[in-house]
Amino acid sequence: MSSPVPIKTSGKVRVRFAPSPTGYLHVGGGRTALYNYLFAKHFGGEFILRIEDTDQARNTIESLKMVIEDLQWLGLHWDEGPDPVTLEDKGPHGPYKQSKRLDIYKKYADQLIQSGKAYYCFLTDAELEAQRESAMKGGRPPHVQSPYEEWPLEKSLARLQAGDKAVVRFRTKPLKKDYLLQDLVRGEVRFPSDMVGDFVILRSDGMPVYNFCCVVDDYLMKISHVFRAEEHLPNSLRQLMIYEGLNWELPQFGHVSLVLDEDRQKLSKRKGATSCHQFHEEGYLPEALKNFIALLGWSHPEGKEILSMEEMIAGFNGERLNPAGAVFDGTKLKWMNAQHLRALPNEDLWKLTEPFLKKAGVHVLDDKSWQMKSIETFKTSMETLQDAVALYQSLDDKQFSVDGTSAEVLGWEPTAKVLQTWKDLLSNDPSEFLSEGDFLKIQDQVKEKAAVKGKNLFQPIRVAVIGKPHGTELKILVPLISKKSLIHRADQVLNSIKG
Ligand code: GLU
Repeated sequence: MSSPVPIKTSGKVRVRFAPSPTGYLHVGGGRTALYNYLFAKHFGGEFILRIEDTDQARNTIESLKMVIEDLQWLGLHWDEGPDPVTLEDKGPHGPYKQSKRLDIYKKYADQLIQSGKAYYCFLTDAELEAQRESAMKGGRPPHVQSPYEEWPLEKSLARLQAGDKAVVRFRTKPLKKDYLLQDLVRGEVRFPSDMVGDFVILRSDGMPVYNFCCVVDDYLMKISHVFRAEEHLPNSLRQLMIYEGLNWELPQFGHVSLVLDEDRQKLSKRKGATSCHQFHEEGYLPEALKNFIALLGWSHPEGKEILSMEEMIAGFNGERLNPAGAVFDGTKLKWMNAQHLRALPNEDLWKLTEPFLKKAGVHVLDDKSWQMKSIETFKTSMETLQDAVALYQSLDDKQFSVDGTSAEVLGWEPTAKVLQTWKDLLSNDPSEFLSEGDFLKIQDQVKEKAAVKGKNLFQPIRVAVIGKPHGTELKILVPLISKKSLIHRADQVLNSIKG
């Protein structure tokens, strides 16, 4: 699937991710950021982070920090934009926060007013509402009909001088034609100009609206390509009109498909994790999450599924983007995470796992070779870093207790003998840790000495090691638990029988 329109990459490739920070980064936003990043890296271009924070009520500094933290975790480092630590703007095309660019928007709004492409409109909210209602009743499109459209500029300026408030509207009536967008994902998209009426570009408090800032910034920041969510496709008409009004060349756009849940609805918090932060906390690796979200709506040229960052960069040239909605399959993400996790060197995997254990209060041995041995043993049972918690809990003496499911086993007649024999044989063994072979040998000796076999043998020993009759194979766990600790556990279980 090549791009439906030719991709121009002759000039400098400059792309941007432009979040409106309202909390942690949504996986859909993460994917948009990733596509732009991959495209920039593929063509040796630049990746810019621009903060669309003109909605001051919703866009907080805390949210900005959250988005930055998530992007940093994903490893999508930007060439220009707020510094991740100080949040100070860095780069030659700043400021990169729209709230710091208000004078710039004012300048271009003035330019549009002077050239007659925009005008001051003094309609009140009540008048606008009345118009909307009457249009609805009459079955007409709800476009504003502003009498101020006809006003000479001097008259409007005088009214402003007198202290009245006005929005600035973009004039659409003279633009009677179809606007065409050559979309890198969707091919040619046609918008009849009458889909919109005269739209606001500056509010009466001087705050610019998204469609206007976006055009001004993309142009001034020399953005060459924009990959963004499909939900912005309808905004493109207003943006095309503004580009035309300012006589500016537009970047190439690619509107990427929505991320859907398994019921083909827009992915929403109600049905599970949707933010990159949540996946981080649940023990997913950034490499796996990136790999997974990259393939939501894009395919690698060789159809590869497990991809490193280098392979994604090499394969991502703006083609092969699927216009159909992409379903977020959590099971596949887990599988992919397991693949990435198991491919990590033990030392790296341990470093990533340890904080999860600490957070869960699991005690581990401060011994490098034990740590490497344990992670090597457990990595095949882990799909996420969080999975390590339950596995390491079984090694932690402080968390050892005899589970209620052991009651039946503890009531069997030969159990006490099995456990006493197990404990005695352990006590006679000189080593600090048993190897798998030592363990199997001791188990055989218990079988002989206590004259039991099958579940009468295995389940009591299991209870003596992990506190319950079912769980991970003992030959895997026993070599990770010190002999001293095994004896102590056996004692506890024996006492509970006697008690
Ligand atoms: N600020 C917009 C958003 O967060 C991005 C718009 C765009 O990429 O043009 O959805």
